[in-house]
Amino acid sequence: MRIAPIKVPLSSRSLQNVVPGAYPQVEQDLAAFPEPVLDALDRYGARVAVLDDGESLFDSPALRTLSEQEYNAEKSQANRIVRTALPEIQASSVEELTDSLTRELRKAGLDFHLGLSRETPNLEQIAARQNIPEEHFQDWVQSFHQLNKELPEGLLLLPHTYHQGKPIPHNLLRNSKEVTAEFVERSLGINRAEDRLVLLHKKFTPENAVEIGNYRLAIHETGHALDHLLDTMTGLPGLGAAHRATVDALYQKDLKKAETAGVEAVFTSDRASEDVREYFAEAVEAYLTFPGSPEGEIFRTDNSHQGLKNRNGELYDYIGMVLHQDYSKAVIPPPPPRPVHDPGIPDPDSQVYWF
Ligand SMILES: [Zn+2]
Repeated sequence: MRIAPIKVPLSSRSLQNVVPGAYPQVEQDLAAFPEPVLDALDRYGARVAVLDDGESLFDSPALRTLSEQEYNAEKSQANRIVRTALPEIQASSVEELTDSLTRELRKAGLDFHLGLSRETPNLEQIAARQNIPEEHFQDWVQSFHQLNKELPEGLLLLPHTYHQGKPIPHNLLRNSKEVTAEFVERSLGINRAEDRLVLLHKKFTPENAVEIGNYRLAIHETGHALDHLLDTMTGLPGLGAAHRATVDALYQKDLKKAETAGVEAVFTSDRASEDVREYFAEAVEAYLTFPGSPEGEIFRTDNSHQGLKNRNGELYDYIGMVLHQDYSKAVIPPPPPRPVHDPGIPDPDSQVYWF
């Protein structure tokens, strides 16, 4: 099996943005997507990280840092959220208060941490404890003042740290070291919707990925990313809740069919039958995959353009519609909310620092 002829030039800016770094095979795979789709993914901030043995997300150019403009927008938004939320919160302890505030920030996709201080905060000490690189101390102090100008005494909103000269939330930088190539390899590929990240191990991205039955992981995982983006995208008919409803209904219909006809006859692959998310991602991969040499074919024969057309006509039409939309008028949604643990469960991602 081989993927569709390249539709998007490899020099396309959106393609290069979605796949930062030099990964020609992944670029070639994703060039099968129409440009407006890649452009929408790019504007949403979706990125593909390719990790080789010994690497972690920390080493990848796909690790998201903030531009000055993005950081300023985040700081104003955090200010606004804390100012509006504070008077509304009924908390019986300082822990409850900071927990509620952190949740409000995470809901808006913001990763700022809160701090508490019994005395007038000593900025040098705080920056040192937060491991702020010395060369960024002045920028950090400026951000600190921007974030804390209207907060009650004792409550601190802590600025982000820095990675390769650019601001990045502490938790994302720390997590990035835990996302290792070995971890990615175990799952073959991962779509982290909450991080807008597709993670691939480099060894599963060669032209003939024979060891995984020519499974086109990059397309499959990007199909998941597109599914999640469409869930919250608006501005064009059929997106957002309507997208979710359509795919859910088609999946339920095919499941029902499979009860009598059998999974093999209805779905293009076992994976497509697993759940509604796999159903969509497999369909995107199938739509963009055309039969070629049978060499190395293990289990993917039917997950192809023709296989999808034959078995799931309605899904085929829907994927065709989704892939060929002009997204230039679509509203690109804000970053997804960040997950938070239940209260009482220690969570470094929402840790509150005492100074
Ligand atoms: Zn999947």
